[in-house]
Amino acid sequence: MALDRRATRTNVGRAKYMINETQGIEPSNRLFWKSLRHKDFSRKYRYFIWMTAHNGYKTGDYWTNITNFEHRANCVFCGETESMEHILTECEKSNHKLIWSLTEALWQGKTMEWINPCFGTILGCGLIKMINDEGKHLAGDSRLFRIMVSESAYLIWKLRCEAVIQGKEISKIEANRLELNCLLASTKPTKGRLDKRLVKNTWLEVLREQDNLPEEWLGEGGVLVGIRAGMG
Ligand SMILES: [Zn+2]
Repeated sequence: MALDRRATRTNVGRAKYMINETQGIEPSNRLFWKSLRHKDFSRKYRYFIWMTAHNGYKTGDYWTNITNFEHRANCVFCGETESMEHILTECEKSNHKLIWSLTEALWQGKTMEWINPCFGTILGCGLIKMINDEGKHLAGDSRLFRIMVSESAYLIWKLRCEAVIQGKEISKIEANRLELNCLLASTKPTKGRLDKRLVKNTWLEVLREQDNLPEEWLGEGGVLVGIRAGMG
């Protein structure tokens, strides 16, 4: 794959700018690249976000100068010139807004305010720390945020690819997929071990009956019911 260094620099710059805006400190390039491999990210997402940071996917301008393929430069939903940013956050006709609103709804109950993700937030979500008014870092909230943002972004990309290949529309069914994906990502063991306290912290405030968690849920089919109850 031929890398577009200028596009990469722009993307890194945007992520760093956004992190500086929300956290008040600009991360180094090294820290940024390391954050793309965060252990809370799925392997697929790690690849996706690395490719995205490098403008590695063939979208938009890549096709403009290729004879007979010019039409591929345009968004399958709205006909505008496509880019990863367009797909994830800008398109007016795709249902990415539906996915992001579901994500936000899932966050309901958390004391910390939801950060509406822009392209820079998505690129930098591995570095975002949720800090409360007392200056305390809420590790569980930060973890849920990066899981939700990464899972949502990847789902939107996947659905866009399905739309391009099969003409499929995004449906409400995806709501279940999103919740399940976030849940699976949050309960993935690290080095063969599941930190139940971490899982509990991650979903703290989102779920109503926290005291019964996580033993009752982990490995049980009732997990999604629990999330829904928390959203009610
Ligand atoms: Zn579009």
